[in-house]
Amino acid sequence: MDHVQADAVVIGAGHNGLVAANLLADAGWDVVVCEAAGEPGGAVRSAEVTAPGFVTDLGSSFYPMAAASPVLNALDLGSYGLAWRRAPLVLAHVFGAEAVAIAPDPDGTAASLEAASPGDGAAWLRAYERWRELRVLVLAALFDPFPPVRAGARLARQAGVAELVRLARFGLLPVRRYGAEEFPGHAAAALLAGLTLHTDLGPDSSGGAIFAWLLAMLGQDVGFPVPEGGAGQLTAALATRLGKAGGVLRCGAPVEAVVVSSGRAVGVRLAGGELLTARRAVLADVSAPALYGSLLPADALPPRLLDDLRRFEWDHATIKVNWALSGPVPWLAGATAREAGTVHLAGDLAAMGEYAAAISAGRLPRAPYLVIGQTTTADPTRSPAGTQSLWAYTRVPRRDWTAAAVREHADRMAAAIEAAAPGFADLVLARHLQGPGDLAGMDGNLDQGALNAGTAGVHQQLVFRPLPGLGRADTPVDRLYIAGASAHPGGGVHGGPGANAARAALARAGRAGPLYAAVIRAAHRLVY
Ligand SMILES: Cc1cc2nc3c(=O)[nH]c(=O)nc-3n(C[C@H](O)[C@H](O)[C@H](O)COP(=O)(O)OP(=O)(O)OC[C@H]3O[C@@H](n4cnc5c(N)ncnc54)[C@H](O)[C@@H]3O)c2cc1C
Repeated sequence: MDHVQADAVVIGAGHNGLVAANLLADAGWDVVVCEAAGEPGGAVRSAEVTAPGFVTDLGSSFYPMAAASPVLNALDLGSYGLAWRRAPLVLAHVFGAEAVAIAPDPDGTAASLEAASPGDGAAWLRAYERWRELRVLVLAALFDPFPPVRAGARLARQAGVAELVRLARFGLLPVRRYGAEEFPGHAAAALLAGLTLHTDLGPDSSGGAIFAWLLAMLGQDVGFPVPEGGAGQLTAALATRLGKAGGVLRCGAPVEAVVVSSGRAVGVRLAGGELLTARRAVLADVSAPALYGSLLPADALPPRLLDDLRRFEWDHATIKVNWALSGPVPWLAGATAREAGTVHLAGDLAAMGEYAAAISAGRLPRAPYLVIGQTTTADPTRSPAGTQSLWAYTRVPRRDWTAAAVREHADRMAAAIEAAAPGFADLVLARHLQGPGDLAGMDGNLDQGALNAGTAGVHQQLVFRPLPGLGRADTPVDRLYIAGASAHPGGGVHGGPGANAARAALARAGRAGPLYAAVIRAAHRLVY
């Protein structure tokens, strides 16, 4: 076989790897993407796993961050087959027989919140107004490579230093405090806490409010859209675009080592021994523990980094259940829950606090908090007319999960839905389970089903993500970049880590490359 040579080799065809490959191919580079699995996408895939005609998203499903991401929008995926679909309501938070919802228009959301908690509607409109003022700068600060100097300076100019200090405080706020400070009633506070719980943070975790705020405001702004036909259509659009730009995607090609010579990444070795040479860069859409702990030789890394790796914290494990239903979920809360694409089955703030505390203590929560996807409500192509392709996931402690224990917990999840929607069980045509081991088996980055490629805790964000360092895609190995969700700005489908890695590789290979490398080397000497 001819020895493959390319300008860049990308390890992993998750959406971040595909984003990175697209940007490099756009810049005229030869790119080869090596994907371990039989198909691309990582946690952005779909298949008929419950019953014929029912499409299930196997990992992620709703994409507010993708719809708002300047990175993905610049790729114009609509021209490569991606079409967004939206449910009549964005998100419902169900408390037993009651529910509140984010509606597509802010006044609709305000009315829903106001009916449940007087004062919350007006507070929501104030929060959304503030979001509209800051939106462009917040998104730029989030998606620019770290440190976001230009976006930060514009934010300081526009908001003023006094406001910036308060924004920094907001960045550290637990969601329970945010609710208490800004929303007089219980409804918005619970809705927001439910959004924080999409991460591994609880209502009292520092840094939890900003995730809730971001997801809530994006939900109000762009909705929680889904790709028509299944999550895999987002991956298909990225892969099609890459093919048209001249990139090569090889599936069933697990990388077992990054080849390093004189402190520089020069290629990869596939399981089976094949070598691929990378003339300019290797980009790794893999977790930080996989990259630093197994793909690289230990002697290629500073001892301090290896020591930090011991302290890397994964986020919680996950159990996901997929159902084919003969009809819509018969929510006691009625249309508010039925018409939402995403549903939190969560209860009040106290219940969410107990759930989060139990998982942190390594115990199974009495009442599992569920994020539920009513995907046919969002996209009627997901299952036959009148039926529902439904999934629910919940977070669980990291431990050895046997198949029997996963089944038992899946039964608890179904029981929680039955309690809020009597008659649910009678609609079940088929059920498919994804326990922590199944999720990791589908995509090696999802260690025990960790959704976020590492905790969302403040101690592992910005310059601490994925390990203490520069918060950038550059690694201590020259021409090797970390491109996956372990890196800043972290988990979720938005392409940020992939784009940052591609930009770093282009800067390193550009005319000012030697200067760029010298600056990064000097900065690394300071932090390691
Ligand atoms: C159940 C679940 C629900 C989620 N829900 C949402 C949601 O609704 N909305 C949202 O925005 N986000 C959601 N997320 C998070 C989001 O899906 C991830 O953060 C995102 O997909 C990560 O993308 P990535 O490209 O960094 O990595 P991945 O998607 O994990 O892709 C990594 C790829 O690299 C491959 N790989 C790994 N190691 C190697 C190797 N050595 N050689 C070759 N290939 C390798 C893997 O097989 C995989 O294909 C969810 C995640 C899960 C698991």
